[in-house]
Amino acid sequence: MMDQQGVQELFHSLDKFSWQEEIRKKEPLANKTSVRVGGPADLFLTVHDLDELTRLFEIIREHQCPWFVLGKGSNLLIQDEGFPGIVIRLAGDFSQVAQVSSRQLVVGAGIANIQASRIAKKNNLSGMEFLTTIPGTMGGAAFMNAGAHGQEMKDIVEWVEFFSETGEVETIRAEYLDFSYRHSRFMQTPGIILKLGLQLQVDHSEAIGKREKEFIMRRKGSQPLDARTWGSVFVNPPGDSSGRLIESCGLKGKGIGQARISPKHANFIENVGGATFQDLLKTVEYAQKEVYRVYGIHLKMEGRIIPELTSKQGK
Ligand SMILES: Cc1cc2nc3c(=O)[nH]c(=O)nc-3n(C[C@H](O)[C@H](O)[C@H](O)COP(=O)(O)OP(=O)(O)OC[C@H]3O[C@@H](n4cnc5c(N)ncnc54)[C@H](O)[C@@H]3O)c2cc1C
Repeated sequence: MMDQQGVQELFHSLDKFSWQEEIRKKEPLANKTSVRVGGPADLFLTVHDLDELTRLFEIIREHQCPWFVLGKGSNLLIQDEGFPGIVIRLAGDFSQVAQVSSRQLVVGAGIANIQASRIAKKNNLSGMEFLTTIPGTMGGAAFMNAGAHGQEMKDIVEWVEFFSETGEVETIRAEYLDFSYRHSRFMQTPGIILKLGLQLQVDHSEAIGKREKEFIMRRKGSQPLDARTWGSVFVNPPGDSSGRLIESCGLKGKGIGQARISPKHANFIENVGGATFQDLLKTVEYAQKEVYRVYGIHLKMEGRIIPELTSKQGK
C-alpha cells in the first residue's frame, strides 16, 4: 500500500520525463467502468509506445508501486476507496491494427473489440463475430478469455506479445497461455498484453455481418444492455447456469442499496443510480448466500475486484 508521501515521490519521479499525456492525480475511475462505481486512482497515465511503458516500469520498480492496467473497465468492480497506486491505460501504438494478412490479424491490446472486429469484417476475415457483443478491449478479452455464442478468445488467439513487470517483451504462443473457461495465464503472471496475433478464416463480409446482427439481436433480447452492469456476475457452475440458479431462488429485482439483481437476466447486477461498491458487493454476497442455501452451490465471481479484497473484507 502506498502512502501519500510515496505517491508524491512517484509523481515527482514521473514528472521529470515528458509523456505524451499528462500524469493525472486522483483520477476518477468510476466513469471508466461500465458499472460506474469506484473511487479514484492515486495516479493515472496513458502510455502510447514501448519507450513510455519501459520508462514507466523502471520508475514503478524503483518505487515498488502497485499498478494496474485498465481496459474498458467492463469486467471490473473498483472499490470505493479507489486504487492506491498507478493505473495504466494503453493508447497510441497499443491500440491499432498492426497488420492484416490473408488469414491473420495483428492488433494492439488497447483496441476496442468492436473496432477490431469491424476491421476483420472489412477484410473478409471471420472468427471475431462473437466479440461484437462483448464490450472491452482485445487485451481485456485475452486476459479474461472472453467468450460468447459458443466461441472464446482461445479459438482465435495464435500468439500474444507480453510485457513483463521486469520490462522484458516476449511472444507467447497460445498453447502456453493456459486458456480455459474465463481463465488465462495472465491472471497468475503480472504484466501487460501488448499485441495479439489472431488466426481467422476467409469469408464474405456480408455473411460475417449477418452473423454479427444475429448475435446482437439475441443479446438485446436477453441481457440488460441499457443498464450499468459489469457483465456476468458469476461464472457458470459445471453443468448449470448461474442465471437460472439465481432466478429460481426468486431473486430477480432484489438487491441492496442502489444495486439490484437485473429483472431481465439474473446473472447481472445493475447500478440503478448512485450505487457504491459496498452495495454491489453485498448484492453479490446475497445472491451467493441464497443459492448456497437452496442448492448447496457456491457461485464464483467472474469479474475482477480492484484492489483485491483482503481476507477481512470478504471471501
Ligand atoms: C453488457 C456486458 C456484456 C458482457 N458480455 C460478455 C460476454 O458475453 N462474454 C464475456 O466473456 N464477457 C462479457 N462481458 C465482460 C467484459 O466485457 C469482458 O470480460 C471483457 O473482455 C473485459 O475487457 P475490458 O477491456 O473491459 O477489461 P477490463 O474490465 O478493463 O479489465 C479486466 C481485466 O483484464 C485486465 N487487462 C485489461 N487489459 C489488459 C492488458 N492489455 N494486459 C493485461 N491485462 C489486461 C485488467 O487488468 C483486469 O484484470 C460483458 C460485460 C458487459 C458490461
